[in-house]
Amino acid sequence: MAELIDGKSVAEGVVQRVKALTIELMEKGAQKPGLAVVIVGEDPASQVYVASKSRTAKECGFHSVQHTLPAEMSEQELLAIIGELNADPGINGILVQLPLPDHIDAGKVIQAIAPQKDVDGFHFINVGKLGTGELETAFVPCTPAGSMLLIERVRGKDLSGLNAVVVGRSNIVGKPMANLLLAANCTVTVAHSRTKDLAALARTADILVAAVGRPEMVRGDWVKPGATVIDVGINRIAAPEKGEGKTRLVGDVAFAEAAKTAGAITPVPGGVGPMTIAMLMANTLASAYLAAGLKRPS
Ligand code: NDP
Repeated sequence: MAELIDGKSVAEGVVQRVKALTIELMEKGAQKPGLAVVIVGEDPASQVYVASKSRTAKECGFHSVQHTLPAEMSEQELLAIIGELNADPGINGILVQLPLPDHIDAGKVIQAIAPQKDVDGFHFINVGKLGTGELETAFVPCTPAGSMLLIERVRGKDLSGLNAVVVGRSNIVGKPMANLLLAANCTVTVAHSRTKDLAALARTADILVAAVGRPEMVRGDWVKPGATVIDVGINRIAAPEKGEGKTRLVGDVAFAEAAKTAGAITPVPGGVGPMTIAMLMANTLASAYLAAGLKRPS
Protein backbone atom coordinates (compact mmCIF):
# COMPACT_ATOMS: atom_id res chain seq x y z
CA MET A 1 0.00 0.00 0.00
CA ALA A 2 1.16 3.51 -0.81
CA GLU A 3 2.33 5.99 1.81
CA LEU A 4 -0.42 8.52 2.46
CA ILE A 5 0.77 12.11 1.94
CA ASP A 6 -0.94 14.07 4.71
CA GLY A 7 -1.50 17.52 3.20
CA LYS A 8 -3.43 18.67 6.23
CA SER A 9 -0.48 18.19 8.53
CA VAL A 10 2.08 19.63 6.06
CA ALA A 11 -0.19 22.66 5.59
CA GLU A 12 -0.49 23.11 9.35
CA GLY A 13 3.33 23.06 9.54
CA VAL A 14 3.51 25.79 6.87
CA VAL A 15 0.99 27.94 8.76
CA GLN A 16 2.91 27.53 12.04
CA ARG A 17 6.15 28.55 10.32
CA VAL A 18 4.46 31.58 8.75
CA LYS A 19 3.16 32.52 12.19
CA ALA A 20 6.66 32.32 13.70
CA LEU A 21 8.22 34.28 10.82
CA THR A 22 5.53 36.95 11.18
CA ILE A 23 6.59 37.46 14.79
CA GLU A 24 10.25 37.64 13.69
CA LEU A 25 9.34 40.22 11.05
CA MET A 26 7.61 42.42 13.59
CA GLU A 27 10.54 42.06 15.99
CA LYS A 28 12.67 43.56 13.20
CA GLY A 29 10.43 46.65 13.36
CA ALA A 30 8.43 45.93 10.22
CA GLN A 31 4.66 46.04 10.04
CA LYS A 32 2.36 43.01 10.06
CA PRO A 33 1.90 41.30 6.67
CA GLY A 34 -1.38 42.54 5.20
CA LEU A 35 -3.65 40.40 3.02
CA ALA A 36 -6.67 41.82 1.19
CA VAL A 37 -9.21 39.34 -0.14
CA VAL A 38 -11.70 40.71 -2.66
CA ILE A 39 -14.92 38.89 -3.47
CA VAL A 40 -17.55 40.10 -5.92
CA GLY A 41 -21.05 38.57 -5.76
CA GLU A 42 -22.46 35.82 -3.64
CA ASP A 43 -21.21 32.54 -5.07
CA PRO A 44 -21.55 30.25 -1.99
CA ALA A 45 -18.42 28.16 -2.76
CA SER A 46 -16.34 31.35 -3.16
CA GLN A 47 -17.65 32.68 0.15
CA VAL A 48 -16.52 29.51 1.93
CA TYR A 49 -13.03 29.78 0.40
CA VAL A 50 -12.75 33.48 1.22
CA ALA A 51 -13.86 33.00 4.82
CA SER A 52 -11.28 30.30 5.30
CA LYS A 53 -8.51 32.42 3.74
CA SER A 54 -9.34 35.35 6.02
CA ARG A 55 -9.47 33.05 9.06
CA THR A 56 -6.06 31.53 8.31
CA ALA A 57 -4.60 35.00 7.69
CA LYS A 58 -5.71 36.05 11.18
CA GLU A 59 -4.29 32.83 12.63
CA CYS A 60 -0.94 33.74 11.04
CA GLY A 61 -1.03 37.12 12.78
CA PHE A 62 -1.65 39.06 9.56
CA HIS A 63 -3.59 42.25 9.08
CA SER A 64 -6.51 40.77 7.15
CA VAL A 65 -9.10 42.75 5.22
CA GLN A 66 -12.00 41.43 3.23
CA HIS A 67 -13.85 43.42 0.56
CA THR A 68 -17.22 41.84 -0.11
CA LEU A 69 -18.64 43.68 -3.11
CA PRO A 70 -22.01 43.55 -4.86
CA ALA A 71 -22.33 41.38 -8.01
CA GLU A 72 -23.63 44.36 -10.01
CA MET A 73 -20.58 46.58 -9.40
CA SER A 74 -18.81 47.78 -12.54
CA GLU A 75 -15.37 46.74 -13.77
CA GLN A 76 -14.21 50.34 -13.36
CA GLU A 77 -15.26 50.38 -9.70
CA LEU A 78 -13.44 47.10 -9.05
CA LEU A 79 -10.31 48.40 -10.82
CA ALA A 80 -10.46 51.51 -8.61
CA ILE A 81 -10.47 49.32 -5.48
CA ILE A 82 -7.51 47.32 -6.80
CA GLY A 83 -5.72 50.63 -7.40
CA GLU A 84 -6.32 51.67 -3.80
CA LEU A 85 -5.03 48.35 -2.46
CA ASN A 86 -1.96 48.60 -4.73
CA ALA A 87 -1.18 51.98 -3.18
CA ASP A 88 -1.90 50.92 0.43
CA PRO A 89 1.42 50.29 2.24
CA GLY A 90 -0.42 48.17 4.84
CA ILE A 91 -1.34 45.59 2.20
CA ASN A 92 1.25 43.09 0.92
CA GLY A 93 -1.00 40.63 -0.84
CA ILE A 94 -4.15 41.10 -2.95
CA LEU A 95 -6.30 38.16 -3.83
CA VAL A 96 -9.31 38.49 -6.10
CA GLN A 97 -11.54 35.45 -5.66
CA LEU A 98 -12.49 33.91 -9.01
CA PRO A 99 -14.84 33.52 -10.80
CA LEU A 100 -15.92 37.14 -11.26
CA PRO A 101 -19.34 38.06 -12.68
CA ASP A 102 -19.51 37.81 -16.50
CA HIS A 103 -19.56 41.58 -17.10
CA ILE A 104 -16.12 41.96 -15.46
CA ASP A 105 -13.00 40.97 -17.41
CA ALA A 106 -11.11 38.80 -14.90
CA GLY A 107 -7.91 39.00 -16.96
CA LYS A 108 -7.94 42.79 -16.85
CA VAL A 109 -8.52 42.79 -13.09
CA ILE A 110 -5.69 40.33 -12.42
CA GLN A 111 -3.26 42.29 -14.58
CA ALA A 112 -4.19 45.43 -12.62
CA ILE A 113 -2.81 43.93 -9.38
CA ALA A 114 0.71 45.19 -8.62
CA PRO A 115 3.02 42.21 -9.42
CA GLN A 116 4.73 42.53 -6.01
CA LYS A 117 1.32 42.06 -4.32
CA ASP A 118 0.11 39.33 -6.69
CA VAL A 119 0.19 36.51 -4.11
CA ASP A 120 -1.91 34.27 -6.38
CA GLY A 121 0.90 34.38 -8.95
CA PHE A 122 -1.39 35.04 -11.91
CA HIS A 123 0.10 38.36 -13.13
CA PHE A 124 2.08 38.06 -16.39
CA ILE A 125 5.23 39.25 -14.59
CA ASN A 126 5.03 36.37 -12.13
CA VAL A 127 4.01 33.88 -14.83
CA GLY A 128 7.03 35.04 -16.85
CA LYS A 129 9.39 34.76 -13.87
CA LEU A 130 8.25 31.20 -13.21
CA GLY A 131 8.56 30.36 -16.90
CA THR A 132 12.12 31.66 -17.02
CA GLY A 133 13.14 30.03 -13.74
CA GLU A 134 13.34 33.27 -11.68
CA LEU A 135 11.97 31.44 -8.67
CA GLU A 136 13.75 33.63 -6.12
CA THR A 137 11.50 36.59 -6.87
CA ALA A 138 8.41 35.00 -8.49
CA PHE A 139 5.10 34.50 -6.76
CA VAL A 140 4.10 30.98 -7.72
CA PRO A 141 0.39 30.00 -7.88
CA CYS A 142 -0.58 28.44 -4.56
CA THR A 143 -1.97 25.05 -5.60
CA PRO A 144 1.04 23.95 -7.67
CA ALA A 145 3.43 25.46 -5.10
CA GLY A 146 1.71 23.40 -2.39
CA SER A 147 1.72 20.28 -4.56
CA MET A 148 5.46 20.75 -5.07
CA LEU A 149 6.03 20.89 -1.33
CA LEU A 150 4.17 17.59 -0.94
CA ILE A 151 6.29 16.01 -3.68
CA GLU A 152 9.46 17.25 -1.95
CA ARG A 153 8.32 15.67 1.32
CA VAL A 154 8.38 12.28 -0.39
CA ARG A 155 11.14 12.65 -2.97
CA GLY A 156 13.40 15.41 -1.60
CA LYS A 157 14.22 18.69 -3.35
CA ASP A 158 16.29 17.34 -6.22
CA LEU A 159 14.05 15.46 -8.60
CA SER A 160 16.79 15.10 -11.25
CA GLY A 161 15.94 12.75 -14.04
CA LEU A 162 12.53 11.68 -12.79
CA ASN A 163 9.74 11.46 -15.34
CA ALA A 164 6.82 13.69 -14.41
CA VAL A 165 3.45 13.66 -16.16
CA VAL A 166 1.04 16.51 -15.44
CA VAL A 167 -2.50 15.85 -16.62
CA GLY A 168 -4.16 19.24 -17.20
CA ARG A 169 -2.77 22.43 -18.74
CA SER A 170 -4.68 25.20 -16.98
CA ASN A 171 -2.89 28.45 -16.18
CA ILE A 172 -3.78 28.01 -12.51
CA VAL A 173 -2.54 24.45 -11.95
CA GLY A 174 -1.22 22.41 -14.89
CA LYS A 175 1.18 24.85 -16.56
CA PRO A 176 2.77 26.28 -13.39
CA MET A 177 3.06 22.74 -12.00
CA ALA A 178 4.93 21.66 -15.12
CA ASN A 179 7.29 24.66 -14.81
CA LEU A 180 8.03 23.87 -11.16
CA LEU A 181 8.82 20.24 -11.97
CA LEU A 182 11.03 21.36 -14.86
CA ALA A 183 12.87 23.74 -12.53
CA ALA A 184 13.47 20.75 -10.22
CA ASN A 185 15.10 18.86 -13.13
CA CYS A 186 12.29 16.47 -13.96
CA THR A 187 11.59 15.40 -17.52
CA VAL A 188 8.08 16.78 -17.84
CA THR A 189 5.20 15.87 -20.12
CA VAL A 190 1.98 17.88 -20.00
CA ALA A 191 -1.14 15.97 -21.03
CA HIS A 192 -4.61 17.36 -21.83
CA SER A 193 -7.89 16.48 -23.45
CA ARG A 194 -6.28 15.92 -26.87
CA THR A 195 -3.51 13.64 -25.59
CA LYS A 196 -3.49 10.18 -27.16
CA ASP A 197 -3.24 7.04 -25.00
CA LEU A 198 -3.10 8.90 -21.73
CA ALA A 199 -3.05 5.67 -19.71
CA ALA A 200 0.20 4.52 -21.35
CA LEU A 201 1.75 7.97 -20.90
CA ALA A 202 0.73 8.10 -17.25
CA ARG A 203 2.41 4.71 -16.68
CA THR A 204 5.78 6.30 -17.56
CA ALA A 205 5.47 8.77 -14.68
CA ASP A 206 7.59 8.62 -11.53
CA ILE A 207 5.56 11.67 -10.48
CA LEU A 208 1.96 11.80 -11.70
CA VAL A 209 -0.06 14.97 -11.11
CA ALA A 210 -3.77 14.92 -11.96
CA ALA A 211 -5.42 18.34 -12.36
CA VAL A 212 -8.33 17.62 -14.64
CA GLY A 213 -11.64 18.05 -12.84
CA ARG A 214 -12.97 14.59 -13.80
CA PRO A 215 -13.90 12.33 -10.91
CA GLU A 216 -11.61 9.28 -10.56
CA MET A 217 -10.47 9.44 -14.18
CA VAL A 218 -6.95 8.18 -13.39
CA ARG A 219 -7.33 4.45 -12.77
CA GLY A 220 -5.10 2.12 -10.78
CA ASP A 221 -3.55 0.55 -13.88
CA TRP A 222 -2.38 4.01 -15.08
CA VAL A 223 0.03 4.21 -12.16
CA LYS A 224 3.66 3.07 -12.38
CA PRO A 225 4.67 0.93 -9.38
CA GLY A 226 6.22 3.19 -6.74
CA ALA A 227 5.08 6.44 -8.38
CA THR A 228 4.26 9.58 -6.39
CA VAL A 229 0.66 10.49 -7.20
CA ILE A 230 -0.61 14.02 -6.54
CA ASP A 231 -4.34 14.40 -6.93
CA VAL A 232 -5.31 18.05 -7.34
CA GLY A 233 -8.91 17.36 -8.40
CA ILE A 234 -11.83 18.22 -6.16
CA ASN A 235 -15.08 16.77 -7.45
CA ARG A 236 -18.38 16.43 -5.64
CA ILE A 237 -20.29 13.31 -6.62
CA ALA A 238 -23.52 11.66 -5.49
CA ALA A 239 -23.12 9.29 -2.53
CA PRO A 240 -26.36 7.29 -2.33
CA GLU A 241 -24.66 4.96 0.18
CA LYS A 242 -24.71 7.90 2.68
CA GLY A 243 -28.42 8.50 2.13
CA GLU A 244 -30.66 10.12 -0.43
CA GLY A 245 -29.34 13.36 -1.90
CA LYS A 246 -25.99 13.00 -0.08
CA THR A 247 -22.66 13.78 -1.78
CA ARG A 248 -18.98 13.19 -1.18
CA LEU A 249 -15.70 14.61 -2.46
CA VAL A 250 -13.41 12.61 -4.72
CA GLY A 251 -10.28 13.51 -6.64
CA ASP A 252 -9.31 12.95 -10.25
CA VAL A 253 -7.62 9.69 -9.21
CA ALA A 254 -9.42 6.45 -8.30
CA PHE A 255 -7.76 6.46 -4.89
CA ALA A 256 -8.37 2.88 -3.68
CA GLU A 257 -7.05 1.42 -6.95
CA ALA A 258 -4.09 3.78 -7.32
CA ALA A 259 -2.99 3.38 -3.69
CA LYS A 260 -2.28 -0.33 -4.36
CA THR A 261 0.43 0.52 -6.91
CA ALA A 262 1.69 4.01 -6.03
CA GLY A 263 4.62 4.60 -3.69
CA ALA A 264 2.91 7.63 -2.17
CA ILE A 265 -0.41 9.32 -2.84
CA THR A 266 -2.43 12.33 -1.69
CA PRO A 267 -5.97 11.72 -0.45
CA VAL A 268 -9.01 13.86 -1.34
CA PRO A 269 -9.94 15.61 0.85
CA GLY A 270 -6.88 16.25 3.03
CA GLY A 271 -4.17 16.23 0.36
CA VAL A 272 -3.48 19.18 -1.95
CA GLY A 273 -6.59 21.14 -0.83
CA PRO A 274 -5.25 22.40 2.53
CA MET A 275 -1.91 23.33 0.92
CA THR A 276 -3.45 26.02 -1.28
CA ILE A 277 -4.42 28.34 1.56
CA ALA A 278 -1.17 27.64 3.44
CA MET A 279 0.87 28.68 0.38
CA LEU A 280 -1.19 31.85 0.05
CA MET A 281 -0.04 32.75 3.55
CA ALA A 282 3.57 31.88 2.66
CA ASN A 283 3.39 34.11 -0.44
CA THR A 284 1.93 37.02 1.56
CA LEU A 285 4.65 36.63 4.18
CA ALA A 286 7.30 36.63 1.43
CA SER A 287 5.81 39.81 -0.02
CA ALA A 288 5.94 41.48 3.41
CA TYR A 289 9.61 40.49 3.89
CA LEU A 290 10.49 41.88 0.46
CA ALA A 291 8.52 45.11 1.15
CA ALA A 292 10.55 45.51 4.37
CA GLY A 293 13.79 45.19 2.37
CA LEU A 294 14.53 41.77 3.87
CA LYS A 295 15.44 38.48 2.23
CA ARG A 296 12.47 36.35 1.43
CA PRO A 297 12.21 33.34 3.81
CA SER A 298 12.94 30.07 1.99
P1 NDP B 1 -9.48 23.43 -15.82
O1 NDP B 1 -10.86 23.01 -16.19
O2 NDP B 1 -9.06 24.84 -16.03
O3 NDP B 1 -8.45 22.50 -16.61
C1 NDP B 1 -8.65 21.13 -16.75
C2 NDP B 1 -7.58 20.52 -17.62
O4 NDP B 1 -7.85 19.13 -17.74
C3 NDP B 1 -7.56 21.09 -19.05
O5 NDP B 1 -6.23 21.33 -19.44
C4 NDP B 1 -8.19 19.98 -19.90
O6 NDP B 1 -7.65 19.86 -21.19
C5 NDP B 1 -7.79 18.74 -19.10
N1 NDP B 1 -8.74 17.65 -19.37
C6 NDP B 1 -10.08 17.69 -19.32
N2 NDP B 1 -10.59 16.49 -19.64
C7 NDP B 1 -9.54 15.67 -19.90
C8 NDP B 1 -9.41 14.32 -20.29
N3 NDP B 1 -10.49 13.55 -20.50
N4 NDP B 1 -8.19 13.83 -20.46
C9 NDP B 1 -7.09 14.60 -20.27
N5 NDP B 1 -7.14 15.88 -19.88
C10 NDP B 1 -8.36 16.41 -19.72
O7 NDP B 1 -9.28 22.97 -14.31
P2 NDP B 1 -8.24 23.48 -13.17
O8 NDP B 1 -6.85 23.24 -13.61
O9 NDP B 1 -8.64 24.81 -12.68
O10 NDP B 1 -8.61 22.44 -12.00
C11 NDP B 1 -8.42 21.04 -12.16
C12 NDP B 1 -8.98 20.34 -10.93
O11 NDP B 1 -8.29 20.78 -9.79
C13 NDP B 1 -10.46 20.63 -10.63
O12 NDP B 1 -11.03 19.46 -10.08
C14 NDP B 1 -10.41 21.71 -9.59
O13 NDP B 1 -11.55 21.70 -8.74
C15 NDP B 1 -9.18 21.30 -8.83
N6 NDP B 1 -8.52 22.43 -8.15
C16 NDP B 1 -8.15 22.22 -6.86
C17 NDP B 1 -7.52 23.19 -6.15
C18 NDP B 1 -7.11 22.91 -4.75
O14 NDP B 1 -6.97 23.81 -3.96
N7 NDP B 1 -6.85 21.64 -4.42
C19 NDP B 1 -7.26 24.53 -6.73
C20 NDP B 1 -7.56 24.60 -8.14
C21 NDP B 1 -8.20 23.59 -8.79
P3 NDP B 1 -7.85 20.98 -22.34
O15 NDP B 1 -6.89 22.08 -21.97
O16 NDP B 1 -7.47 20.27 -23.58
O17 NDP B 1 -9.28 21.40 -22.27
